[in-house]
Amino acid sequence: MIDTHAHLNFKAFSQDYQKVIQDNFKQGLKAVINIGSNLETSKKACQIAQEFSHCYAAIGLHPIHVEDEDFILEEFQELIKKNKDQVKAIGETGLDYYQEKYEPEEQKKVFLKHLKLAQEFNLPVVLHCRGSKTEPHDAYLDLLKILKKQVKSKGVIHCFSADWEIAQQFLDLGFYMGFTGPITFKNATPRLLKVVIQAPLNKILLETDCPFLAPEPYRGGRNEPIYIRLLAQKIAELKEISQEEVIKQTTKNAQKLFNITEKLN
Ligand SMILES: [Zn+2]
Repeated sequence: MIDTHAHLNFKAFSQDYQKVIQDNFKQGLKAVINIGSNLETSKKACQIAQEFSHCYAAIGLHPIHVEDEDFILEEFQELIKKNKDQVKAIGETGLDYYQEKYEPEEQKKVFLKHLKLAQEFNLPVVLHCRGSKTEPHDAYLDLLKILKKQVKSKGVIHCFSADWEIAQQFLDLGFYMGFTGPITFKNATPRLLKVVIQAPLNKILLETDCPFLAPEPYRGGRNEPIYIRLLAQKIAELKEISQEEVIKQTTKNAQKLFNITEKLN
């Protein structure tokens, strides 16, 4: 079991991330990728990865933060060079139109810089995407438009929440699909559950997005990496296969996409 999208580098874990990591690994977690959302949390993800084996990092500037700070390419290049074995992806990056104050054109510019950085170091990208309140698919369509021109990009569309037609386009581009807590919620839409059922198992990644989006029965509380077990259980139930099969295959998927070559305990 690999949590491919965690934020143990965020404030919610600043007091006890070491204990959470130790406890979660004892309970069966095999690896975790902590995802940066700005330069500071990207650095923290690298620091945790230096501190613990089987903890890795993704670095980037989240689209909702492009207004707060500049994406300075050299700083991120430097971070990769200093943490060659720890940085496994670029992100999270992408488009977020949910709040109207965010500027789509600026986000697109910064997103393109992330894709370039990923290509420079041959790393996958971790994509965040959220549509506007009135047009939930707009950001997904814009993201696809950009990706279709970038044939060399590889990665995952994190916390997928659009419909199957959009999912297919990401799959056609070779992208993986990340599913999080909302697939376990009692009010999960049939549209989302259909995507989980139809997505090929060899293209699915488990991710918590902790501390956010805790799955049932922990909804509303602080999420943690070990809860991907509940996601595996839900996916198994929906696909009518065993939980072991889901865990085995999604672990392989994560190792492949993120080039995790170390032996997992
Ligand atoms: Zn996230």
